[in-house]
Amino acid sequence: MGIDARFITVEEAKEIVPPLNTEGLLAATFCPSDGHANPFNTNFAYAEAAQRLGVKIYNFTEVKEIKTEDNRIVSVNTDKGEVLTPIVINAAGGYSGEIGKMAGVEIPVYSQRHQILITEPVDPLFKPMLMSFSRNFYCQQTPHGSIIMGFGDPDEPKGYNIGTSWQFAREMAKKMTAVVPLLKEVSMIRQWSGLYNMSPDSQPIVGEHPQVKGFYMAVGFSGHGFMLAPVASRLMAELILKGRTSIPIDRLDIGRFERGELIIEPSVV
Ligand SMILES: Cc1cc2nc3c(=O)[nH]c(=O)nc-3n(C[C@H](O)[C@H](O)[C@H](O)COP(=O)(O)OP(=O)(O)OC[C@H]3O[C@@H](n4cnc5c(N)ncnc54)[C@H](O)[C@@H]3O)c2cc1C
Repeated sequence: MGIDARFITVEEAKEIVPPLNTEGLLAATFCPSDGHANPFNTNFAYAEAAQRLGVKIYNFTEVKEIKTEDNRIVSVNTDKGEVLTPIVINAAGGYSGEIGKMAGVEIPVYSQRHQILITEPVDPLFKPMLMSFSRNFYCQQTPHGSIIMGFGDPDEPKGYNIGTSWQFAREMAKKMTAVVPLLKEVSMIRQWSGLYNMSPDSQPIVGEHPQVKGFYMAVGFSGHGFMLAPVASRLMAELILKGRTSIPIDRLDIGRFERGELIIEPSVV
């Protein structure tokens, strides 16, 4: 697809990431044009850009109820009042299943805590994000030197817990010091968590709900929603304004689960 990703040898991996412990490593892949962005800054930048274009954002406003008539969206009730509208976009992340229920539909998504931690800033150690699906981790040094890392806990129960655990910190330290032994000298400074909104095939559900006219969904991003957000929102806007999208997204419809046409995404940490 024109992406500059390639297989590299163990020696090349060591050249690109000098502090890497290559024991047990057979090969790797590398994409020199990969980038990274701070999700907090990006989010506020998008909000400001939208406001410059005339979008009104109501912060601290909770959607409590969605009214439908003859299977069409009529209005949204919030804790600050009612909004009459024929269109709702469900982009509620971990709570998108709840929003679906408000519109009278079941969306086959669930939420699951995902923990992450950050270390003190240190001198530059490596540039690319290190990631392994078999060893289950990702790890990246930020431009100011802190190292951020996470893994997916296969025993994490479904739910809305966004607390943190010492078990995570201990397991994370074990995993990463095996891969980059130098990290034994680096102190962790903060730990937090958020929700992954998982779908049955770990791919997003995008499009209008077939039973409720005007109820659009951009949900179930399953741990990939930050990088997919720019294209997902552009396609959503095209779908609503023009009725068609510049990239086909039909296969990401909610009906794929009933049809048994899942598009399994294996690369989720
Ligand atoms: C620790 C961690 C690391 C991650 N790392 C990556 C990564 O490296 N790359 C990547 O691509 N993705 C990553 N993700 C996943 C990514 O964060 C999500 O997929 C993405 O944030 C989903 O975006 P969203 O806009 O759909 O939902 P969210 O960002 O969850 O936003 C949903 C919004 O809806 C609001 N909301 C919910 N219910 C209501 C209601 N009733 N009324 C009003 N508002 C409501 C919420 O307050 C929230 O602001 C990570 C997630 C976690 C937790």
